[in-house]
Amino acid sequence: MTASDPNPLLAPLSTLRGVGPKLLARLEELGLSQIEDLLYHFPLRYQDRTQVTPIGSLREGADAVVQGSVRVASIVPGRRPTLMAKVDDGTGLLTLRFFHFRRAQAQQIKSADSITLFGQARPSGGGIEMVHPEYRLDTTDTLLEEALTPIYPTVEGLGQGLWRKLTEQALNVLGQAAAQDLLESVVESDFNLAEAIRYLHRPPPGAPVDSMRDWQHPAQLRLALEELVAHHLSLQALRAEEKACPALAIKGDGSLIAPFLKALPFQPTDAQERVIGEILADMREPSPMLRLVQGDVGSGKTLVAAMACINAIESGHQIALMAPTELLAEQHLQTFGQWLTPLGIDVAWLSGKVKGRARDAVLQSIAEGSASLVIGTHALFQEGVVFASLALVIVDEQHRFGVHQRLALTEKSPGQTLPHQLVLTATPIPRTLSMVAYADLDCSVIDELPPGRTPVTTTLLDAQRRSDVIQRVGAACADGRQAYWVCTLIEESDNVDARAAEATFALLAEQLPGLSIGLIHGRLSAADKETVMADFKSGALQLLVATTVIEVGVDVPNASLMIIENPERLGLAQLHQLRGRIGRGAVASHCLMLYQAPLSRQGRERLEVMRQSTDGFYIAEQDLRLRGPGELLGTRQTGLTSFRVAQLPAHEQLLEQVVDVANQLLKRHPDRCATLVDRWTGERQAFARV
Ligand code: ADP
Ligand code: MG
Repeated sequence: MTASDPNPLLAPLSTLRGVGPKLLARLEELGLSQIEDLLYHFPLRYQDRTQVTPIGSLREGADAVVQGSVRVASIVPGRRPTLMAKVDDGTGLLTLRFFHFRRAQAQQIKSADSITLFGQARPSGGGIEMVHPEYRLDTTDTLLEEALTPIYPTVEGLGQGLWRKLTEQALNVLGQAAAQDLLESVVESDFNLAEAIRYLHRPPPGAPVDSMRDWQHPAQLRLALEELVAHHLSLQALRAEEKACPALAIKGDGSLIAPFLKALPFQPTDAQERVIGEILADMREPSPMLRLVQGDVGSGKTLVAAMACINAIESGHQIALMAPTELLAEQHLQTFGQWLTPLGIDVAWLSGKVKGRARDAVLQSIAEGSASLVIGTHALFQEGVVFASLALVIVDEQHRFGVHQRLALTEKSPGQTLPHQLVLTATPIPRTLSMVAYADLDCSVIDELPPGRTPVTTTLLDAQRRSDVIQRVGAACADGRQAYWVCTLIEESDNVDARAAEATFALLAEQLPGLSIGLIHGRLSAADKETVMADFKSGALQLLVATTVIEVGVDVPNASLMIIENPERLGLAQLHQLRGRIGRGAVASHCLMLYQAPLSRQGRERLEVMRQSTDGFYIAEQDLRLRGPGELLGTRQTGLTSFRVAQLPAHEQLLEQVVDVANQLLKRHPDRCATLVDRWTGERQAFARV
């Protein structure tokens, strides 16, 4: 290929057979526009149709081809008639179920001598079954394939056959073109880029099924490494860009910190001291701090944030503190108000619900600089909010900034400086994962809880025992304890969620007439929420029925009992957060998780983790092991949830190598870095996981 030849891999998809304007538009929507994009549209997984599996050795959850003879086939009547059949291959019996079928189908299956099936095996009442398997009767066309079958990520209306045809053509183009191997001479691998791409799209006959399925094949590892390096480089570039911006170098004079510490009813822990030291050192630099503070639930991150605030205020600058929920923001308003108002510091409040004249007044105090600390929700970063001298932005509880929000911030700071940024999170990220997830941030860890805490004990109970639990809660509250009753999300809707909490509230009020019970959910007005929380905090309410709005940050140390309904619906990180609302005082605390039976095996395993441990790092690692990084980091954390080849934790062992390879590339081939980042991290739409 000469320099003037256009690279055929960059040709538009319209040059492929079978791609008309309509399909072209859909592919475009999915972020696919060039032939090369199809090559990086990798299979999500593989089906193994290469061999027949004896029924006796079917693995739960695995796809498999089975051959046998039909023992029974009949239509089971009922509200939803089912076609049921049993297949025998001498090693065991497999049940088939069809919910959509034609009457004739039952007869055909019954009179067949042999049947070949492909489907997913799952346990059912002591035996094993397949629901809606593909099947062939009495034929030598056996559903068997020579090689593993790739299954592509897709969206409604675009079938696997289509993806196979498209990628087939793209692979042909790859055969004639030169794909630039950006890791050449940097990474040792048996596979160069083109070979690895081909292997993943079309595993050859005899490709090792197990290592492919576990994402451990050298071709997969080669591409996963490249992808992780690309993500690391893109975060590093972002960081370098921000670090290159000027920031206000801040060194407080200590005039406020001394009286603050004197008035504080406790001593900072050693861990808090260390982290505060790291933050103050960052803020003294004329380039922006980009720091993440990780600390388990209850480790005292708020104090650390407050001391950073005071440092900025001592130098005459402003701080914006953003929380993900209104409730948490309000609670910060209270805590910071209590700590800072006696020092003569003005704390302002801004949420989306502050409107009209009140809003104008707040905006004015922010613009004039008389409000030193502004606490609120996302509303803080909307247009029209102008700071006199914003020097520090604190984001509580895992909301990370997108690039756009960061850019918006420069416009709010004096003279195009970038404010110092402090992100607080209670979701501990295992170290290896944080090298990819947070490569743009420096990380501090508060690895110690304040003294005098007793760990929460956790019990798992079948929801059928609800009425026992209600009695138990009644007795505990009569005994002077305070309790949360948490109704978890039933649907992704505030309304439904609130109604469930209302129903539970009514039931508990009826069954425990002697108790004073409160109700809090996302649909209450800010003022109502505040009143309820204040009443619970003061002890006027003994029992608080809540939705997961209380998940983060709420701090009522006297509450020592928590009931969580349907815990199986929540992620482990979220359960850990919720449970972190208790165990904050000196009294031993107890958490009851009322699950809906039957639990899946994974569901039980996950709740067992909660029962056995209160260590956020351990829980996060188990969550990563059981469900992958998407759940752990939340769906908002784009980038990580849209890896194409890399799998975590399966590829954890690569992470150590990632930093090294990235540094080598930067040093030896800086010209390749931008192309690499572009190739792997371009805008992508979410595909359904099939
Ligand atoms: P989180 O890290 O979950 O945000 P908080 O900042 O809400 O934790 O702190 C939890 C509780 O611990 C609060 O009631 C806070 O006042 C208290 N606390 C924080 N630091 C200390 C300390 N060093 N000693 C005793 N109590 C502390
Ligand atoms: Mg907190």
